[in-house]
Amino acid sequence: MNQSSADGARRTRAPQNLEREESQLWRLILLFMVLLAAGFAALAWERLESLPFHLGPAAIGVLILSILLAAYAYGRRREVGELKVLLQDLQQHVGAAPSEEQLDQLNELIARSQRSFKELIDSFDDAACAMSLDGTLRTVNKSVSLLLGLPYTQIVGKKFTDFLEEPSRSVLEAGLPRFLERRHWAGNIRVRLKDNPGALYFDCVLNGILKGGEVVGVSVLGRDVTEQHEKELRFTELFETLQEGAYFSNPEGKLLDANPALVSILGYANREELLAVDPSQLNFDSSQPPMLGRAPGDQGGVRAREITLRKKDGSAAVFLDSSRAVWDSAGKLIRYQGTLIDITERRKLERQLQQQEEFRRRLLESFPDLILVIDLADRYTFVSSRVRDSLGREPEDLLGKKISAAEDQSPELLALYKEVVSGAKSFGAAEYAARHRDGSWRTMRATASQLFDAESRLAGVIMSVRDITMEKKLEQQIVQSERLAAMGAMIGGVAHELNNPLTSILGVSELLQDSQTTEAAHKQVGILQQQARRAAEIVQNLTYFSRPPASGKIRASLAEIIERTLNLHAYALRKNNIAVDFLPQPGLPQVEADPHQLMQVFLNLILNAEQAIREVRERGTLRIRLGSSDNSVWASFRDDGPGIPAEIVGNIFDPFYTTKRPGRGTGLGLSICKAVMKEHNGTIDVANAPDGGAIFTVTMKAASAAGQGA
Ligand code: ADP
Repeated sequence: MNQSSADGARRTRAPQNLEREESQLWRLILLFMVLLAAGFAALAWERLESLPFHLGPAAIGVLILSILLAAYAYGRRREVGELKVLLQDLQQHVGAAPSEEQLDQLNELIARSQRSFKELIDSFDDAACAMSLDGTLRTVNKSVSLLLGLPYTQIVGKKFTDFLEEPSRSVLEAGLPRFLERRHWAGNIRVRLKDNPGALYFDCVLNGILKGGEVVGVSVLGRDVTEQHEKELRFTELFETLQEGAYFSNPEGKLLDANPALVSILGYANREELLAVDPSQLNFDSSQPPMLGRAPGDQGGVRAREITLRKKDGSAAVFLDSSRAVWDSAGKLIRYQGTLIDITERRKLERQLQQQEEFRRRLLESFPDLILVIDLADRYTFVSSRVRDSLGREPEDLLGKKISAAEDQSPELLALYKEVVSGAKSFGAAEYAARHRDGSWRTMRATASQLFDAESRLAGVIMSVRDITMEKKLEQQIVQSERLAAMGAMIGGVAHELNNPLTSILGVSELLQDSQTTEAAHKQVGILQQQARRAAEIVQNLTYFSRPPASGKIRASLAEIIERTLNLHAYALRKNNIAVDFLPQPGLPQVEADPHQLMQVFLNLILNAEQAIREVRERGTLRIRLGSSDNSVWASFRDDGPGIPAEIVGNIFDPFYTTKRPGRGTGLGLSICKAVMKEHNGTIDVANAPDGGAIFTVTMKAASAAGQGA
């Protein structure tokens, strides 16, 4: 009886113990899993958030997955429930030792449950194991056996130090008292397997396995984060060693982190000092919103801009900011991250260069000569703006053009370029004619020398060009007046010698004409006399030219003198169909002049115009205008003849220069005009009218001005 009641008590105690232990086991597992998941989520959250791939939700996913797994495991409890019912049945209805069949059934259920549990922990990708406090491995999942490369049976029962070089037993022992107290630990562990030098990193959660309230073992769940850890390491190394500044800032512009380069560029002693600086203090321009924060109207995204920050010493540092905004999963802007490239020096250099360039530009502009640079391919690569004054052209008209292909190109300039660029001469000069935009020709003098680049290689030719048209004109005038003086002396002698024989010829021919009886002889002597008179006229002109009669200058009006000359010549003009358009412009100042000499000048101009017109047409017009400017009075004679070809313009004032048929011109008319005008301190100039015809202009000082000058 006692025996059987003791048996019965044992039978009822066994299921109770079983139930308690089983439910304790389940609770432990569930708690363990949820703790693991929550621990992992908490641990991984911040790190995942800081990664640029928005992995935050992954932690939540893991937590949810764990809860689902826990629910699944909880469901499996039902199987154990069946086992319980079976046991109770056995106890209640049989009241004796279970049958063989029942025991098999029971064993099978237990085995099934164990398999399910094993399958469950094997399904974890993370390494999971349980070990006793002395480091003996009690159970491991498939991930551990894969990691160690050994089957389950060769691992369980061994010490973890049999497989791992690191962490060493001593390290773990050092942390054991604290663990026993807290019964939980979470963090990163560096693991090195035996015979494998490569380090692995595991993000671990350790929980105490309790028995009767005492910690008897440790459950470990570890996630291999080696790859992530290496990425982090690489990132940290990059951040720390980058030569450019790198930063993280919040939307208010406060620096959250800065690399050593940025700390040093901004002149701070260390990172902490820089991070403590108020955002507005980082601004060089304090009236602006914080530079590293969100600007008004900034929609986030990528920023590429130039900003100026204030260094610790108050000076300005110019940066190229390449950064982007980072949002959280709810779409809220949480920070900016990017690099700051210090371009202060570059900007300074650019400013200096700009100033130098400006100086160079002004220097060249204020230089009196035109500067040209021609490269080795004979193209103009630089033309100073002086080209506007000297040739009325824009630098762009020449830039890029070939010197050999330029409009109105000058052979002398091309030859000079070739000479210098070929190295035949390192320096040279030449005079050449260049056409001004207004159509006139200018005489230029170019000096050229070789131009070298920074590597001292020949890069082209630099020329300095000066407009010497005026100088040339003056030079020619001097030459001409010297020539005139020399010729005057010679002509004076010749004229004197010719005068006497001519006077005799004229006298004798007059006597002869009277004594001629036949008509034919009378006519022939007439011709003789006519030619002798013409010769005498030439001689008189020559005498005048060599030694102008002492002038009797009086105050006279140009208009009046012209009028008188026209009257004298009116018949011939009419006969030759030359209309005179004379506008005597009343109220002009008088001039100090010898009226006879001036009449000689005007007569020459009228005769020349008449002859020029008759050369090309039957009738024409001579237009005479008067005017005054700046204390001078001028008279212009414009005909509608053929004008004067450019190539002879320089010669027409030379004595004996004529284009007329022999017998028609002496070539003395204009040289006499020139001499007379010189005698009167005046000038005579020629130009061609745009619509053809020549314009001769005589200019003299107004009488009052002349009087003052004398
Ligand atoms: P001449 O009249 O005897 O030839 P000038 O000294 O008066 O000598 O003139 C020199 C040259 O100037 C002339 O031969 C002529 O070719 C040119 N010339 C002068 N006046 C005119 C004019 N009005 N139109 C065209 N050519 C002119």
